[in-house]
Amino acid sequence: MMPNVDYSLLFEPIKIGPVTAPNRFYQVPHASGMTEANPRVRAAFRGTKAEGGWGVVSTGAVSIHPSSDDSPLPYARLWDDNDIHSHALSTAAIHEHGSLAGVELWHGGAAVMNRTSRIAPYSPSGIPWLATHVGFMGNLRPRIMDKDDIRDIIKWQVEAALRAKKAGFDIIYIYAGMGYLGYEFLLEEYNHRTDEYGGTTENRVRFVREMIEATKEAVGDTCAVALRISLEELRAKPSDNYPSEAHEVVSLMADLPDLWDVKMDSSPTDCGASRFREEGAHEPVIDFVKKVTNKPVVGVGRFTSPDKMVGQIKRGVLDLIGGARPGIADPFLPNKIKEGRIDEIRECIGCNICISSWHDGVPVRCTQNATAGEEWRKGWHPEKFSEPGSNDAILIVGGGPAGLEAGLIAAKRGYQVTIADKEDTLGGRLNFEASLPGLSAWGRVNEYRLYALKQMANVNLYPASELGVEDILALEHQRIAIATGASWSKMLMSSLEIPVGTLDKPGVYTPDDLAAGVKLQGPVLVYDFDNYYMGGVIAEELANQDLKTSYATSAGHASAWTIMTNEQPFIHQRLEEKNIDITTRILLEDFDGENAILKDIYTGKPLSMAVKSVVIVGHKTPNDDLYQKLITRKSDLEDAGIKSVDRIGDMLAPGSLVHAVYSGHEYARNLDVDKDDLYQRDLPITANGIGSVFNRK
Ligand code: ADP
Ligand code: SF4
Repeated sequence: MMPNVDYSLLFEPIKIGPVTAPNRFYQVPHASGMTEANPRVRAAFRGTKAEGGWGVVSTGAVSIHPSSDDSPLPYARLWDDNDIHSHALSTAAIHEHGSLAGVELWHGGAAVMNRTSRIAPYSPSGIPWLATHVGFMGNLRPRIMDKDDIRDIIKWQVEAALRAKKAGFDIIYIYAGMGYLGYEFLLEEYNHRTDEYGGTTENRVRFVREMIEATKEAVGDTCAVALRISLEELRAKPSDNYPSEAHEVVSLMADLPDLWDVKMDSSPTDCGASRFREEGAHEPVIDFVKKVTNKPVVGVGRFTSPDKMVGQIKRGVLDLIGGARPGIADPFLPNKIKEGRIDEIRECIGCNICISSWHDGVPVRCTQNATAGEEWRKGWHPEKFSEPGSNDAILIVGGGPAGLEAGLIAAKRGYQVTIADKEDTLGGRLNFEASLPGLSAWGRVNEYRLYALKQMANVNLYPASELGVEDILALEHQRIAIATGASWSKMLMSSLEIPVGTLDKPGVYTPDDLAAGVKLQGPVLVYDFDNYYMGGVIAEELANQDLKTSYATSAGHASAWTIMTNEQPFIHQRLEEKNIDITTRILLEDFDGENAILKDIYTGKPLSMAVKSVVIVGHKTPNDDLYQKLITRKSDLEDAGIKSVDRIGDMLAPGSLVHAVYSGHEYARNLDVDKDDLYQRDLPITANGIGSVFNRK
């Protein structure tokens, strides 16, 4: 198919220093949780994006030296020649599809604790990086770099750049963002130096400038040298001769790097969740850069709409459309635009589960794309599917995210698929959840799947069809997947996390009651020990209904686990904005219709709250009645020709959307496949042997 003429701008090549990107789709550096411990997993993950049309595909942070050691968080390395071999797998996988490979060389400065290398961290002036994320916190303060230290870092950058070139990278980064070393030199709050590296803006820029100059000198003949810089804080600072200090910093180095990769300063603002940040939200901070430099500019903004992408280029905001999450959710986004298959784009929902997997220290997981990180390990290609292994027809009971994904993948493989759901609208839990404040983008999980399923001749969708055992036995399908979801319970826990019974009393509700349309009497207490989004968003919803709402949790923060998805600070702010009282570290014990009885989780100090309704957001239990009844009918199942009855999604193990989609996907991929192979295990490549020795210098 010819490229859609409206979007042809996105497919124009662009020169970046000595190299040329084939189009404007630029997968900016992003964490993948894939280190030298899993080089094949990493190569397949990045290579798949190149196959899907991303003209540039980059690594995540690649440490230049053991003094930049982010452990226990996963990060990659180019510390010695051993590391070249594992990165060369990625560059080969990227080049195979005609794309450029970028490497984000990185020194973490004071933002790393060097827990493994035990080297005193480097910083311009001994100022620590304020860590609000528990995974980043540490109790070691950084050294103040002397001139030798500065020379060492530049030397290590050059050595890493030369290794990167050997590994086949085309674009080599200097990183001056997100609290890392280059950034610490730029900001006067971190940089109190009185030598030529501190004081005036020109002096504060010097370290970054020297890093760029040395890198260009070493590899600039064949490789582009890019600067990645955070501009949020600098843009907020006044400058005597420029509109802001960001303008001044960019002007001072305007045409020095071959490419400007511009971003925000912290993960929650840079990778904002859709609940709090719109597509293209960076523009007010980075819009000036192209006016100051003649070099190409790339930036992100969770872009999934080709119209918005074209708008960015036409309006002179960006030259290249940066993408991290949109390319995780759909590695084939560029090709789908090129081929006019816009409706087939699996749009990122902005849930930030991908970021939580980095915080968890594991390879990337994605709600929308179950194949992310599984391309090599399980051999799952996001767009290619194996032939069906039989003529069996598949009946899926329950059309939530798990059922829809299972049905879609089974149908793509070529099976005859039926999905039945008792509700009038397919979509399961998301029909309610996507209606909650800020969560409409999550509805894309259903929209994408339902759109695709409705195009397929081998799929029958039956809403408003509650199935019982006899129905299933009569339907003449050979494989049954039970995807009937889970229900919120009223179970409570002790401070030792021991269940203490259920609070099944009048006036006590769960989110399922709200989903069913029950109207509560205020004031309301939302008691949360689920700690993900549901408790906070239910409180927000009730406050929007003009009910006086309080929120209490056993954890130390509102929606505590959302620190993993970059949402926690904003959820707290939102609850404050809505005048919702927040009580933390508290256990709910009882409710007498007038008062909720609580106690401090540590001291046992009692607390009474005068409320008329209580919503418990805690434990979930699978809806397994149908499954349990079905499996007791062994001989009837055999007589009906039913070969298997499986549980998937929340019905198997209640969890987040990412778990439900993955479970449905795995079920369909494994139909008629030898299930003994869990996955291929990746191993490090140590072509130069183990036991490398690092010199102090
Ligand atoms: P998951 O997240 O695992 O996909 P959901 O709770 O979102 O689970 O979806 C479960 C779906 O199963 C709901 O839409 C519900 O209406 C449907 N369901 C439950 N029991 C039956 C049944 N007996 N027959 C048909 N559909 C059912
Ligand atoms: Fe987007 Fe969520 Fe997938 Fe991340 S996990 S890429 S935010 S859909």
